[in-house]
Amino acid sequence: MKALAVFPGKPNSLHLAELEKPAVDEIPDGRGVLVRVLRVGVDGTDKEINAAEYGAAPQGFDFLVIGHEGFGQVEAVGPNVTELKPGDFVVATVRRPGGSIYDTIGTSDMTTDDVYFERGINLRHGYLTEYYVDSADFIVKIPYGLRHVGVLLEPLTVVEKGIAQAFEIQRRLKVWHPKRAAVMGAGTIGLLAALALRLRGLEVTVFGQRPAPYRNSELLRQIETRYVSTRSTPVVQGALEYGPFDLIFEATGFSPIVFDSLQALGKNGVLVLSSVTGGDRHYDVPADKINLGFVLGNKVMVGTVNANREYFERGVEDMALAEADYAGWLEQLLTHPVHGLESYQELIETLTLAKDAIKVYCEVAPIPEPSAAGSNRHDAASVAAVAASAVS
Ligand code: BGC
Ligand code: ZN
Repeated sequence: MKALAVFPGKPNSLHLAELEKPAVDEIPDGRGVLVRVLRVGVDGTDKEINAAEYGAAPQGFDFLVIGHEGFGQVEAVGPNVTELKPGDFVVATVRRPGGSIYDTIGTSDMTTDDVYFERGINLRHGYLTEYYVDSADFIVKIPYGLRHVGVLLEPLTVVEKGIAQAFEIQRRLKVWHPKRAAVMGAGTIGLLAALALRLRGLEVTVFGQRPAPYRNSELLRQIETRYVSTRSTPVVQGALEYGPFDLIFEATGFSPIVFDSLQALGKNGVLVLSSVTGGDRHYDVPADKINLGFVLGNKVMVGTVNANREYFERGVEDMALAEADYAGWLEQLLTHPVHGLESYQELIETLTLAKDAIKVYCEVAPIPEPSAAGSNRHDAASVAAVAASAVS
């Protein structure tokens, strides 16, 4: 079967590789799940891997199959898998356990190991291929009605973890009723963070560079979120106008914004940092002022990376809430589909060049209709028909 791979350390080496189709019995304890890949999203991490700035091949390979934002359909399960069945739509988590105490309790996203294993990123092959196999422990079911947006789950989980961590930390306050949030950045993660915060009832202001109106500011308007361009209103000034912010989620990928965010945070507030900034940028900051504000205001700053299963499950719930409250909104983020693994050049070009893209993804295979999928799921219409005939 085909797979999209890079030679880590060699820039622009994305190519089609050939792999053997995996089988459920490769996974111990009868817990294997064989998944047929349907869609895989790509992001900044893939850009960095293709630029040879990040990523490592699994042991015994000179290439790494990329893709960590997967979405697929179960084709077969091992004898000890009770929670999934063929035909189910699924998404797999990214990180696999290492050896630290955090890894042993299912929270490998909090690992303290220096070496971490991430499918499609570091030391484990990813999902940009036709099939993959993994333990049911790492595979999360996507409800049938969310299949058209399932490929957005992995990026959403990064947001879910950040927000959950913020709430967990704020238990220090005994009572915390966050009212206003700010999100730095209006890219995929920024948009998803705004959504998740809106679903929790917060008033949200998103700061982005581009002057409004444009597609992303329009999307934010649809979820009743304010968009502010930092060209006309710098972050610190925006905080005076629309703050104080109880929670700030930073997702710009531009580290200097962190220090503006520190000054925009309200008393007792929490700042969540999620940008992976691989560079070596330096920036001059009003250190005394920032420190004083933090001390006198009992403020917190926390970093967040990756997401464990718990956040994938919470992400599925939020997707369902989003479809209930803002129907059709999520699907609008799927701006740039690229068809087929063999179109990998187009995939990487779109990822690196399409400035207005929100989510670029590879449609590895079309999402099958229920009959073709062989699923025994009863759709709402047939249940209603049964109910109606029972009444008459
Ligand atoms: C992925 C995370 C991963 C992080 C660092 C992100 O793009 O979504 O799952 O932990 O990169 O490798
Ligand atoms: Zn990612």
